Amino acid sequence: MATKLSGLQIQKLLPKTNCKECGSNTCLAFAMKLAAQKAELSECPYASEEAKAILGAAAEPPVASILLGPGKTLKLGDETVLYRHEKTFANRTLLAVNVNDTDAPADRDRILASIRDYVLERVGETLAVEFVAVTQRGKDRDAFANLAKQALDTAGRPVLLRSADPAALAAAAAKVKGSRSVIVAPSPEAARELRAVAVENNLAMSVTAPDLDGLVKLTTELRDGGFKDILLQFQAHSLAEQFQTNTVARRAAIKGAYKPLGYATVCFVEGGDRLTETAAAVNEICKYGGICVLPSFDPAQLAALMTLRLNIYTDPQKPIQVEPKLYPIGEATAGSPVFVTTNFSLTYFIVSGEIENSGASAWLLVPECEGMSVLTAWAAGKFSGASIAKFAREIELDKQVQCRDMIIPGYVAQISGELEESMPGWNIIVGPQEAADLESFVKARLKSA
Ligand code: SF4
Repeated sequence: MATKLSGLQIQKLLPKTNCKECGSNTCLAFAMKLAAQKAELSECPYASEEAKAILGAAAEPPVASILLGPGKTLKLGDETVLYRHEKTFANRTLLAVNVNDTDAPADRDRILASIRDYVLERVGETLAVEFVAVTQRGKDRDAFANLAKQALDTAGRPVLLRSADPAALAAAAAKVKGSRSVIVAPSPEAARELRAVAVENNLAMSVTAPDLDGLVKLTTELRDGGFKDILLQFQAHSLAEQFQTNTVARRAAIKGAYKPLGYATVCFVEGGDRLTETAAAVNEICKYGGICVLPSFDPAQLAALMTLRLNIYTDPQKPIQVEPKLYPIGEATAGSPVFVTTNFSLTYFIVSGEIENSGASAWLLVPECEGMSVLTAWAAGKFSGASIAKFAREIELDKQVQCRDMIIPGYVAQISGELEESMPGWNIIVGPQEAADLESFVKARLKSA
C-alpha cells in the first residue's frame, strides 16, 4: 500500500533555497504544508520535474476529484476526511433516478419529465435530481441507445448507462458523447473493452469486480494506462456489506493514501421495499456514496434524502446565512409590523415560514449576526438592542415602515429595554420563544390590535 510522504521526505525533493516565493519562510515549512495538504506544489516555481512527478501523485487528494455532466458542473471526490466534524465533506452524494428500456414509453416520458421538473427549495437552496440512470433490460441495443439520448435531452441531466452488453453501452455512449455521463461497465473485461469508448466520447466509467482485490487490480491497470475518469461500483450483497465496503475503501484512500480505491463510487439501490431502499440511500449519503441511483421516482423519498444530504454536506464550520436586510412577508405595507430575527438561514426560513403561515403581512428585519442562531448570537454580543438599532438606522427602517411595532424573539426578552432606548418611538413587543408559537401569537396579539 502506498503511503503518504512525510514533511521531511518532501523537503528532500525541494530546491532547499528558502527563497520564500511560495509564501513559506523555508522549504521545510512549505514541505510541512504539502504533507498536511494545505499547499499545492505549483506554489513553488522552482520545483524540479522529478519533484513534480513524485509529489504530484502525493499532492493529489486521497479521493480523486472528477467533474461530470454537461459543462462539468457536477463534482465528486476531492474528499480529505473520514468524519464530517474533522473538516467537512467536500462534494455531496449525487442522486439519480432509474428508467428502464422495458418501461412503457408513456411511463418513461413521465419519469423523465418528473426528474426534469422536480425542485425542492430548502433553506434558500434549490435542490434537484442530478443524474438519470438508463438501464437496459431488453435486447434492442438501438432502443437502449435512443433512450439514453432521450434521457439526456428531456431530463437535461447526464446519464448513467447500464447494461450487461458492452456493444449496447458503446452505442449509447456515442449518443451522449461529450456530456460527461458515465458508462457503468458490468465487469472488468467490459471495462477494459469500454475504456477506449469512454475516452473517445469524453465520458467517465464506473468499474466493478467481484471483490476488492479484483477492483484494485483493475483500477491500477486503468490508471497506469492513463485513464483517470474512474468511479467504483462495489458488489455488495447486503446493506451491511455495502456499508462496510464503502468504509474500508474510503479509509484506505484517506488514511493509507491508497490510490487504487481513491475514487468516488456509484451505487444502485434496488431490490427492496421503499423503506429498505431509503435505508440503503441513507447509507450512501452518510457513508461516502458518490452517485446513488434510486429505482423509481418518488418525490417524498427524494425530499427526505435531499434534506438529509443537505445536513451531512453543509460545512459545520460555516453557518449558512441569508443576506442581512428587511424582508417583506405576505403583502407587507408601510403599516405592517416588524419582526426581528438573526441571519442564520435555518432560523430565518423557520421564522418567515411561521409568520407567513399565520396569514399576516409583516416585515422581517434580519441584521448581520454572522449566521448564528438567536441565543448564540445574543451570547456572542451580535444580537443586542444596540446592534439591531444600528442596523435599523443603516437601512433607514424609519423611512420604509410607518408602523412602530417591533417584535423580538422571546429568548432575548432581556434586550427589549436597551432596544427601546436605542429606537425612540418604537413599541418593542416580546414575541414567543419558539417560532412554532408565532402563528398563535400573531392571531392573539396582532390581529386583535
Ligand atoms: Fe523552497 Fe520553493 Fe518555497 Fe522557494 S518557493 S522556499 S524553493 S519551496
